[in-house]
Amino acid sequence: MRIARELGPDLGRSTKDGGDWQGPYGELGGDVTRLIVVGGGIAGAGAALALHKAGLDVEVYEAHPDSAEDIGAFLTLASNGMRALAEVDASAAVTAIGFPLTSMRVLDDTGAEVARVPLGEAGTAHLQYRCLRRGDLNAALQAEVTRRGIGIRHGARLVSVEDGPDTVTAHFADGSTATGDLLIGADGLSSTVRRLTAPDARPEYAGQYVFYGYTDAVPETTQGETITMVRGSSVAFGYAVSPAQETYWFARVTDAPLAADALADGTPARWRDLLLPLLRKDSTPAADLVAATADRLMVTNATELPTGTSWRSGRTLVIGDAAHAASPATGQGASMALEDAVVLAKSLRDAPDTDAALALYERLRRPRVENNITVSGNISRGTHTPSGPGGRGAGGNRPGDDELVRHLEWGTDLSS
Ligand SMILES: Cc1cc2nc3c(=O)[nH]c(=O)nc-3n(C[C@H](O)[C@H](O)[C@H](O)COP(=O)(O)OP(=O)(O)OC[C@H]3O[C@@H](n4cnc5c(N)ncnc54)[C@H](O)[C@@H]3O)c2cc1C
Repeated sequence: MRIARELGPDLGRSTKDGGDWQGPYGELGGDVTRLIVVGGGIAGAGAALALHKAGLDVEVYEAHPDSAEDIGAFLTLASNGMRALAEVDASAAVTAIGFPLTSMRVLDDTGAEVARVPLGEAGTAHLQYRCLRRGDLNAALQAEVTRRGIGIRHGARLVSVEDGPDTVTAHFADGSTATGDLLIGADGLSSTVRRLTAPDARPEYAGQYVFYGYTDAVPETTQGETITMVRGSSVAFGYAVSPAQETYWFARVTDAPLAADALADGTPARWRDLLLPLLRKDSTPAADLVAATADRLMVTNATELPTGTSWRSGRTLVIGDAAHAASPATGQGASMALEDAVVLAKSLRDAPDTDAALALYERLRRPRVENNITVSGNISRGTHTPSGPGGRGAGGNRPGDDELVRHLEWGTDLSS
C-alpha cells in the first residue's frame, strides 16, 4: 500500500475543468493512516468499509443517536452501486434486505405498455437492481461496519473542522473532538464539512417535487421483480411491488418548489389532494395507488448541487451527496456514493502520496458524477426524456462499461 509521505498546509481549491488536478491544493505532509469519516450514511458507511479494506485506520462519526434512522423514502440501488458493494465484500449485507428488480416496463398515459427491458445486470444475482428503504440500507451498512470492528460513534454531530498543517480535527456538538490525518465529509446534502471545502455552494431546487408512498394495494397486472414507469401526461410515476405485496411508488411533479411552511405543515391527506387531480387525467394505475395510500406518504423538493463545486480543502474531502447531490430522477445518488467510496480507497491505496491520491480520485470521479447531476437535472426540468432508470448517459449500470468496472475492481491498480 502506498499512502502519503510528504505534506504541508492547505494551499488552494479545486479547478472546475477536470483537467490538471495535480497540485492546486499544495502538498500534504505526514502519513495518512488515520481517517475521520463524518456521516454514517451510504457514502460514509461505504467509505468506512472500503478504507478499512485498504488497510487504513478509520472511524465514523454519525449525528443520529442510533442506526435506526427514520428516513422514510425508498431508493433503488442500481447495478453499478451493487458492484461497488461487491468489491468491498458487502453484497450479502444488502441482498438480505429489500428486493431485486430485474426488468422495467414503461406505460404511457393510457396505461398501455410501450416498452419492457431488462434492468442492469439482471442475470447476475448480486448485481441486480435492488429496491430498499433508505433507512434500512443505512442500518445494514452500519451493521456491517460494526461487524468488521470499525468504530462508529452515534450522536456525534460535527459542528466545525480545524484543518491544520499536520492534522485535521473534527469538533462535535457535545464538545468532543477527533483528530486524524484526513477528514472525509460524507454528511449529505446539507453538509457541514462543505462549509470548509466550498463555502458558497448551496443546494438548488432541481425543478421537481417528489412524492413517495407505500400501500398494500397491488395493481392487477403486476409482475414480480419489475419496476413500472408510468409516463403520465403531467406526472412521472413509478412503482414496484415487494414480495410481501406492498407497493412502493413515487411521483415526480415538475413545478415551482413547495414552500417550506407547506412542507412543514403538510399531511398525507393534503399531499393526496394535490397529487390525485394530476393523476386522474390519465388511465393508469397511478391514481388508484395514491388513493389507496393512507399515512405512508411523503414529499420533498428535489435539489442538486451546482457542478464545479470544490470538493477539497487541505486535509478535508467531501464525497457522496455532500460533494455532488443530484436530483433523484436518474436514481443514482446512492450508487454514486458507493462508487465514490471504492474509488477513494483504491486511490489512497494505489497513488504514490496523498495529494496524488486525492487528485486521482477527483479526476476519476468528477466527470462521472457531474454528468449525473446534469442528466438528472435535465430530466427533472423536463428538458430531457429518460431512456430508463439511470438514463443513458447518467453513468448507470450498462453492461460493458469497462472503465467503470476497472475503477471499481478491487484488484485493479488505479495508478497504472
Ligand atoms: C427522496 C429521495 C429519493 C432518492 N432516491 C434514490 C434512488 O432511487 N436511488 C439512488 O441511488 N439514490 C436516491 N436518492 C439519493 C440518495 O438517497 C443519496 O444520494 C444518498 O443517500 C447519498 O448518501 P450520502 O451518504 O452521501 O448522504 P446521506 O444518505 O444523506 O447521509 C449523510 C449522513 O450524514 C449524517 N450527518 C449529517 N450531518 C452531520 C453532521 N453534522 N455530523 C455528523 N453526521 C452528520 C446524516 O445523519 C446521515 O446519516 C434519493 C434521495 C432522496 C432525497
